[in-house]
Amino acid sequence: QLAGKRAIVTGSNSGIGLGVARELARAGADVVLNSFSDEAEDHKLAADLSAETGANVTYIQADMSKPEECRALIEKAGGCDILINNAGIQHVARIEEFPLEKWDAIIAINLSSAFHTTAAALPAMYANGWGRVINIASAHGLTASPYKSAYIAAKHGVVGLSKTTALEAAGKGVTCNAICPGYVLTPIVEKQIPDQMKTHDMDRETVIKEVMLSRQPSGEFATVEQMGGTAVFLCSDAAAQITGTTISVDGGWTAM
Ligand code: NAD
Repeated sequence: QLAGKRAIVTGSNSGIGLGVARELARAGADVVLNSFSDEAEDHKLAADLSAETGANVTYIQADMSKPEECRALIEKAGGCDILINNAGIQHVARIEEFPLEKWDAIIAINLSSAFHTTAAALPAMYANGWGRVINIASAHGLTASPYKSAYIAAKHGVVGLSKTTALEAAGKGVTCNAICPGYVLTPIVEKQIPDQMKTHDMDRETVIKEVMLSRQPSGEFATVEQMGGTAVFLCSDAAAQITGTTISVDGGWTAM
């Protein structure tokens, strides 16, 4: 289905990024994995995914907190047909106590990186008359929760950037949309569990059920495979007129 297309997935050595990369590779796309690290295991991940799917998968190191590295990622990959802006971090604190360097890092990685990679990727997409930009936003791109000011500001920004990208790309064969996941059990969520256990004086299972999944009417985590399947759908011909919108994969969270 996606044979002959090259996809770049930012922040894809774990979690949703890796899950999306796997589904794109299974659909036949060449895939570039990325993160800020440059370890043997990062390159092995690419080799393993290539062996598993038969797709051409490589790993390119680039730190998404740095504008020039975001743009260099696209150049080093030789451009792309499918750009998945997925890299993201989280920090939880009250606004009055929110560390400035965390605010700056979250805005840079979760929001500005998508601007830089998109700017670098669009010219080749326009020249080819085909492209897909898919931004991994969040249910927190549409609604808010306390103590996640930077993340929620960045994710709302990603939704806005997706709309503007869609308008500028309209009529050129290039679409841009944002996938808004609810809770998916990846390292970013796993890291929040111990703090929540302390804050609420609850055990792990109770935190998952009563704190995290209380927002998710289905009572179940969404999965990285479901994010990947949604991305593959957005790359299909059936989705050619879907642009400038958000797709929630959140078990009903944002319906409440
Ligand atoms: P994760 O921590 O497993 O993945 C984050 C990825 O970003 C990792 O591959 C990490 O290496 C990479 N990354 C972090 N800083 C980077 C940097 N400076 N440069 C390059 N890469 C960097 O978490 P995840 O849940 O897979 O998150 C992926 C995306 O999905 C994030 O944007 C996150 O906000 C979003 N999201 C996650 C959930 C969830 O419940 N897990 C829900 C909504 C949205």
